[in-house]
Amino acid sequence: MTDLLIHDAIVVTVNSENQILQNGSIRVTDGAISAVETTELGDRDSTAEHVIDASGKVVIPGLIDSHRHTDFTLVQGLFSELDGTELLKEAFALYHTAEPTLGDSFFEAAWQLACLRQLTHGITTVNAMDFTPELGAEAIGESGLRGMIGPELADFLDPASADEQLVEARRFIETYHDTYDGRVTASIAPGGEAGCSRELWEGVAELRADYPDLRLHTHLYDSAEADTMAAGSGADDPLDLLDRFDLLDDRTLLTHLLHADRDNARRIADAGAHVLHCPTVYSYFQAGRQTWFPLPALQEFDTNVVIGLDDPFWFDSWDLIQEAKHARLLANFEYGAQQWSSYDLLKMLTIKAARALGLDDQIGSLEPGKRADLVVIDVDTPRHQPYSNLPSVLMNTVTAGDVETVVVNGEILMEERSVESMDVEKVRAAATRERERLQTRTGWETSLAGSTPPDNSILRRISARPLLRAVTQYGRGFLNQHIR
Ligand SMILES: [Zn+2]
Repeated sequence: MTDLLIHDAIVVTVNSENQILQNGSIRVTDGAISAVETTELGDRDSTAEHVIDASGKVVIPGLIDSHRHTDFTLVQGLFSELDGTELLKEAFALYHTAEPTLGDSFFEAAWQLACLRQLTHGITTVNAMDFTPELGAEAIGESGLRGMIGPELADFLDPASADEQLVEARRFIETYHDTYDGRVTASIAPGGEAGCSRELWEGVAELRADYPDLRLHTHLYDSAEADTMAAGSGADDPLDLLDRFDLLDDRTLLTHLLHADRDNARRIADAGAHVLHCPTVYSYFQAGRQTWFPLPALQEFDTNVVIGLDDPFWFDSWDLIQEAKHARLLANFEYGAQQWSSYDLLKMLTIKAARALGLDDQIGSLEPGKRADLVVIDVDTPRHQPYSNLPSVLMNTVTAGDVETVVVNGEILMEERSVESMDVEKVRAAATRERERLQTRTGWETSLAGSTPPDNSILRRISARPLLRAVTQYGRGFLNQHIR
């Protein structure tokens, strides 16, 4: 019995042979792909429960966003014209005022809107790291999407102590790991060398020992002071820090590596760890060519590099295909043309990302036996036609707006741009309401022309404890830069 049949599609399988079927069918039974084959005449009047005629359309595996934060989805547009220093200052103030001031309803609306955007952009799986993971697990679970979620552990950023955060993380894992038919899983997510104390790293090591199957998801080398930060926890450098706590292996996901060098790349490859690259946020707000991501070394040592949106609300883009495009443009600008082929980029958004998340036996390609996570894209328009190199079309001319139908675990979440698994109007209404609360409670002023942060000092906007922690961690530089 076939529950879902998609026929007459161009099927980009992303299997090990890179097979593309010009006129293909995909059969789905009990949430899994039961067949991927050339469309036969009989398929068109099939007795399958649900039939999608995908003539002229392309079907690809669902896209996987390998690194994202979600809590502040509703701040979109506020940060669009800031520079890196202003961004840090205002983000820091928001982190410390939003939770006590705005409460769960703000973050719940944020997760709902993020799920809706993720879904309509063809992103079927997200690897998220957030301060409100329970709300995330429920929003992702209820929306029908797939997500790996880690409570972000950062005692230099979050007012809760290391102990309190570790207890909560354990509770999260016990409650939400492997729920919603296996679509929601947990990770262990220390914020990185800059946000965590030695005491927190010790607790993370214990957590990892207790849950060895979970991914360890962290930021690393995202600032020039990374070595100094790691030294604060008694290590030679950030990789040594992970190594000392037995946290560096093939289940480790390392985000950014903006300031990593060739030797770091070799050590990451030796450990078999995966690298999550988020190019837009750093090119939008800061970075410089001299500090760009060490791609040639990562390629030389054959590291698995994949792509994430990071904080899409800061730079106003939820389009993962565009993110891949930015990755290539910035890599080519820095290191010369042909850093990645179009097909390489497609794999980084699908099968390679699935491998990073440890889910490549379930998702990431369209093959019999895998869960049915797929996206139907409309390329049958003058914007794309005529074409020959389909991977190049998918990575260069297609945008999220071309996503027509989205299926996760065999369930149709969106069909012909009509969202089936979420109440769109309800999500929009909650987002609008909470956004207005954000403005009235934090003092941000917004208009159609732009956004202005509150003009009172950061000292008046955040409580003493997190401020003291920040100064302890970042030193006087933080004071000079942010507290005027
Ligand atoms: Zn991040």
